[in-house]
Amino acid sequence: MGFTFEVEKPDETCSARAGVMRTAHGDIPTPLFAPVGTQATVKTLTPDELIEIGTTLILANTYHLYLRPGADIIARLGGLHQFMGWSGPILTDSGGFQVFSLEGLRRVSEEGVLFRSHIDGSEHFFSPEKTIEIQEKLGADIIMAFDECADPMDYDYNKLALERTHRWAERCLRAHTRTDQALFGILQGGIFPELRRKSAEFLTSLGFPGYAIGGLSVGEPKEKTWETLDITVPLLPTDAPRYLMGVGAPEDLFEGVERGIDLFDCALPTRLARNGAVFTSRGRINLRKAEFAEDSAPIEEVCECYTCRRFSRAYLRHLLKAREILGLRLNTIHNVHFLTNLVRRIRESILDDSFSALKREFLSQYVPVADDTEQRIKGLARRRARSKQEGTR
Ligand SMILES: [Zn+2]
Repeated sequence: MGFTFEVEKPDETCSARAGVMRTAHGDIPTPLFAPVGTQATVKTLTPDELIEIGTTLILANTYHLYLRPGADIIARLGGLHQFMGWSGPILTDSGGFQVFSLEGLRRVSEEGVLFRSHIDGSEHFFSPEKTIEIQEKLGADIIMAFDECADPMDYDYNKLALERTHRWAERCLRAHTRTDQALFGILQGGIFPELRRKSAEFLTSLGFPGYAIGGLSVGEPKEKTWETLDITVPLLPTDAPRYLMGVGAPEDLFEGVERGIDLFDCALPTRLARNGAVFTSRGRINLRKAEFAEDSAPIEEVCECYTCRRFSRAYLRHLLKAREILGLRLNTIHNVHFLTNLVRRIRESILDDSFSALKREFLSQYVPVADDTEQRIKGLARRRARSKQEGTR
């Protein structure tokens, strides 16, 4: 069965919409938050735990799985679904983002990117054709075109990278042979309206079944992220899903949905959980803090996740302090549940015309954390320094 997408209900007051993506491994209701399973595992969680949480789509990472254990091994073992014991839908990214984020990047050419493995320093080459071949071997339901990720604030680099990304998108389409996988295109163009328009125009002319908005949430100021979406999303066809890559902070999910985004992914909930930071409806708290040492309440009274049904903040804090593995698992269960459930409520609110009310109500209580932005800016500074050093232009 091929991939289809249907908008069930557009919101009447903004660009939000509820829909469903149908794949060979099941339906994906949208809007949706997908947890990241870089190494074919959502860190610390079993597939059954993800099913209990309500996860319907997992992201896996082409770059990492190509290096270890290798796409051929996974293919011989029956493909990624069988290999990781997850029978629901999977999305693989193309590896572009990782390759362009690597320390010691070697060379970008029209043909592709020569890079060194972060594991053993060995040299590898990714071309559009190669990343499609790997993704076909892995066998995810949704696969991504290979794109060049530029510093979103650098006009000259984006102009060049955009044209290459477009030529690479055409090559990905030509290389793609599996009809049971949907190949999504990725728009680039940084924060520059003219380039975003060009990217939308070109990629939609190729007719992808879905479009990702790449090159955002990598260090640009948030207002620029939303301005760029305001310009870009209306240029995309209404009957194809729109995917905002790398966004997962609760307040940002509302902003994205309001502008017509259907799909999000982010490593934030799992990464934070392993550091002891958990989401609540009032904002994030860190369970390592002394104030939770004798706190008998769950992370959140109203939360229906396994962790909140069974355990106190005091116990979770103790597990973190004692470096017990269970603590990482329990915190991850809560965080993935929190975002999955939040987006499920957002979807329901679109269906019953209460999206704006839910957004108002949620944001009146939730206090965002500034350090996410700081992290993004640090990441951007690192990337800038590297691209200058290596002369990747
Ligand atoms: Zn919970």
